[in-house]
Amino acid sequence: MGGVRPNITKHRGEVDRGTRRKALGQKGALVWLTGLSGSGKSTVAFRAERALVERRRATYVLDGDNVRHGLNRDLDFSAEARAENIRRIGEVAKLFVDAEIIVLAAFISPYREDRARVRSLLEPGEFVETYVNAPLSVCEGRDPKGLYRKARAGEVGQFTGISAPYEAPEHPEINLPTDSMDVDACAAEIVAYLEQSGFLAGG
Ligand code: ADP
Repeated sequence: MGGVRPNITKHRGEVDRGTRRKALGQKGALVWLTGLSGSGKSTVAFRAERALVERRRATYVLDGDNVRHGLNRDLDFSAEARAENIRRIGEVAKLFVDAEIIVLAAFISPYREDRARVRSLLEPGEFVETYVNAPLSVCEGRDPKGLYRKARAGEVGQFTGISAPYEAPEHPEINLPTDSMDVDACAAEIVAYLEQSGFLAGG
């Protein structure tokens, strides 16, 4: 895997990024939502997606469930497989960003190093680390998928926060304390960040 692929050359298209951005009226970005299970990543991502579509922006959510059932169905939850999970998602997201789509990626992505690797795939500023930040006790109390109950009963192994680590972002671009900020406010915060950073205009 990786390394130099001598017989594969990159074909350059006829449309450069500036031209595509002008045509679409936006710039691609990867909003990377990280946090414990039940912290609200999917809920916030889908609400932000709706808010962006209402503003006629092209946007798409990549989330744990849709990716793990397809692209990454062969991967388990070991640290190595989690790294590969995040690597593939990063490469897919990079293609979307190249197409100037605003990607909202909702993955626990517990390891700092894995997130940093995705950041390094993109141009400076394009990776927007968003910490969906709720205490374990709150996430466990919500338990929207019943997974904490199963993890406590020993029925699910390598469960982040219980039997596997979570490394919180040190300097996230956006911090969303979902225990004190409602879903609409969290989504609005993401949209405001994108607007202020110039992603919602093409020129
Ligand atoms: P994750 O994708 O991080 O596993 P989910 O979005 O699936 O989490 O579940 C989060 C749960 O928390 C949902 O039931 C949601 O309704 C609830 N919730 C309560 N407050 C918030 C908030 N401010 N932001 C996001 N989710 C919230």
